[in-house]
Amino acid sequence: MEEFTQKQISVLAALVKSDRFSTGQSNRALHRHDISPHHGTLPAGIIWPVTTAEIAEILSWCYENDIPVTPWGAGTSTEGNPVPTRGGLVMDMTRMDKILEVRPQDLQADVQPGVLRKELNRKAGRHGLFFPPDPGADATIGGMIANNASGVQTVKYGATKDYVMKLTMVLPTGKVIHTGCKAHKSSSGYDLTRLFVGSEGTLGIATEATLKLSGIPSHRLATTINFKDLESASEAVAVLIGSGLEPAALELLPPGLINLMNRKKNLNIPEVPSLFCEFHGISKTTLQETADLTKELCAQCGATGFQFGIEEKDRIELWRARHEAWETIHQAHPKKETLIVDAAVPISHYPQMIVFSQNLVDETRVDGYVFGHAGDGNLHVVIAGDPNDEKEWSTLEKLNDLIVEKAIKLGGTCTGEHGIGIGKRKFMQLEHGDSYQLMRQIKELIDPKGLMNPGKIFM
Ligand SMILES: Cc1cc2nc3c(=O)[nH]c(=O)nc-3n(C[C@H](O)[C@H](O)[C@H](O)COP(=O)(O)OP(=O)(O)OC[C@H]3O[C@@H](n4cnc5c(N)ncnc54)[C@H](O)[C@@H]3O)c2cc1C
Repeated sequence: MEEFTQKQISVLAALVKSDRFSTGQSNRALHRHDISPHHGTLPAGIIWPVTTAEIAEILSWCYENDIPVTPWGAGTSTEGNPVPTRGGLVMDMTRMDKILEVRPQDLQADVQPGVLRKELNRKAGRHGLFFPPDPGADATIGGMIANNASGVQTVKYGATKDYVMKLTMVLPTGKVIHTGCKAHKSSSGYDLTRLFVGSEGTLGIATEATLKLSGIPSHRLATTINFKDLESASEAVAVLIGSGLEPAALELLPPGLINLMNRKKNLNIPEVPSLFCEFHGISKTTLQETADLTKELCAQCGATGFQFGIEEKDRIELWRARHEAWETIHQAHPKKETLIVDAAVPISHYPQMIVFSQNLVDETRVDGYVFGHAGDGNLHVVIAGDPNDEKEWSTLEKLNDLIVEKAIKLGGTCTGEHGIGIGKRKFMQLEHGDSYQLMRQIKELIDPKGLMNPGKIFM
């Protein structure tokens, strides 16, 4: 459905204030793609609701009138997750951006879904608290919940699913429900909150969330550790994790990417396979002990260099550069699009996975960078190519397929953090077998007409 009828336009326009519904071409074009090469269909209109009641009314009307609805956060997904595949209505959540309450005594915050992660951290920071899941992009909390986003600090703090305590959901029929509670633990029935986290907007719209917060660590220590090759660097990862050191970040980076980062950010990091590592602790003394043990363990794994005692300013720059890795690669290959492979394996298989992926990149001679959130066994391969060059693009897609299939074979997953969207649907049966059918039945139970974010997770 790429166009609304005049009658549909008047009904939708009457459901919200006039500046919060648009059928303008530029708004529709903006909501047609996220940052991935997966382009969907043009939505017929965009709506910006501001209350749960409005959303209930809109969804109820869309349900009765068979209109597909696709929720939209900040549009930073990498698999076409918020991209409409059957036109219809895009529900842009960015105007529901209120932090309703921060309760430092409970380490909790109540937020609307359009709140940006960095804004929440600014507010929570005044109380010495923060919301740890940290995708590089300044995503909305709703988008993070829907994708179960994570990032560099997940190795210590966990993913978004570990921080969502309570949700208000509007189901596809317009019914409003509340899941979860504000207690730190509960054994009460099916965990519906966890069902909605990671459901990519296919089961309804999250309109309010109670989130857990963590205390900001008093001391941090960042280090970069160099190795002669990617294999020994990735072997050190399992050793560090197994030692009980609990890094707050443990990232693997290849020389090619470090070279781009050095050039773009004017950094001076040795251009060899490296681990970027951070530890959080209660005192400088405990961090020094941690640093000593890290050095000893990495030396046993063949590390060739260590940069400890990184100044605070340089630490911030280092992580900023890491967070902007994708943009850096993108800018280094103008006129090309990037395909971001995201897979995760058990930590013991990480070295094998890294070597396999790097060999594929080398053999196929594509512009590719193998790196990842190593501490979680999460691997990214960013490959650049021209989607209009059929031969080149099919090589990239084949490489993506081979890496993902290998990860699943090793007991891993087709996506560690970016979600299924459009791009990863083809791997769902292989990864989940009979459970995929159960997921489909749950979808049919909650959304019998298949109108909520159609074409995602399921083919
Ligand atoms: C440079 C860069 C680096 C990134 N690094 C990481 C990373 O390290 N880790 C990581 O996990 N991700 C990463 N991402 C991916 C992305 O930022 C995350 O997936 C993020 O959670 C998407 O949030 P968003 O607000 O942009 O949501 P969108 O992309 O707009 O939407 C995401 C999904 O949420 C649904 N949705 C949005 N709001 C709601 C709602 N209120 N209710 C129900 N469904 C909703 C949408 O339909 C869609 O399915 C990165 C992206 C970029 C551009």
